[in-house]
Amino acid sequence: MKIGIIGAGAMGSLFGARLADGDNQVTLIDVWREHVRKINAEGLRLVGENGEKIYHLRAVESPRSLGTQDLVIIFVKSYHTTAALKNAANLLGPNTAVLTLQNGLGNAELISEVAGGAAVYAGTTSHGAHVLGPALVRHAGEGETVIGRFGGPNDRRAGEIAAALTRCSLVTRVTDNIDGLIWDKLLVNVGINALTAICAIPNGGLVDLKSAGLLMEKLVAEAEGVARAKGIKLPGDNPRAKAREVAAATGENRSSMLQDMENRRRTEIDFINGAIVKEGAKVNVATPCNEMVALLIKTLEEKRSKGIA
Ligand code: NAD
Repeated sequence: MKIGIIGAGAMGSLFGARLADGDNQVTLIDVWREHVRKINAEGLRLVGENGEKIYHLRAVESPRSLGTQDLVIIFVKSYHTTAALKNAANLLGPNTAVLTLQNGLGNAELISEVAGGAAVYAGTTSHGAHVLGPALVRHAGEGETVIGRFGGPNDRRAGEIAAALTRCSLVTRVTDNIDGLIWDKLLVNVGINALTAICAIPNGGLVDLKSAGLLMEKLVAEAEGVARAKGIKLPGDNPRAKAREVAAATGENRSSMLQDMENRRRTEIDFINGAIVKEGAKVNVATPCNEMVALLIKTLEEKRSKGIA
């Protein structure tokens, strides 16, 4: 399969490396020049619990020279989705499938707007990874990937994509409840990400600190109300308990939003708590706690960009 991966940071590198190890022609596309140069010159190093492996695959800064792909996987941060895909429109032909495993709400919708008639698939992945430096990525944890056709019933292609990923040690299954699955993960991120970033605490702080735990409950309860008003079929019956369980089970972890704050990067807040506020307004469900934390994160981002101490 010819596969183009747009955004070859932590997750794009991980999926690209594993897929290139199988019977696929993979190209990584990333605007980070030093990363691309080093991948081409020395290979991509993946460091994990089982040691280190170097993968040799092609990386490009611009997709312009590439032809139509069978599969395009989007792994930029959510706020770059539209621009990155518009810039790579030449990868999309009538038989191209586009897959997003990004976090948050709204990526598949943005992709559908830009991708013309291409079939769009969305999903979630429980793999964890982070970039250590150019051409060097840490694979922090294995996990399941679940995908489904976005905006329509599942088709043969969904099964083929899942099989191709699974053959390359990226265990993947197909679900008929893609919205429920995305919301299920979203509700956990709604409870954990912004709060850990604002309070500068690891995930376990939301269990150890009583007030932080109460805030988490309120955030998730509001978001659950929005999901139910939208008719989303959530796979679990107690999202608040789930968020708490995840926070406890990943107690030492620093959430991606906390890491973004610490590394002075933009966060995906608009696609997480911000998305709850937007969706809540559409179905007349009040979301004051989510609005508050979204505005607090925005304030911290603005404070940093304006150099206010
Ligand atoms: P990352 O920041 O490590 O990688 C994103 C990459 O996109 C960067 O290398 C950046 O240079 C590149 N990029 C930015 N604009 C681009 C453009 N126009 N064209 C091409 N490349 C561009 O991010 P990540 O941690 O890999 O996360 C990607 C997505 O996956 C996010 O939505 C995240 O929430 C989600 N996710 C991450 C994890 C994780 O463990 N890291 C797990 C599950 C889901």
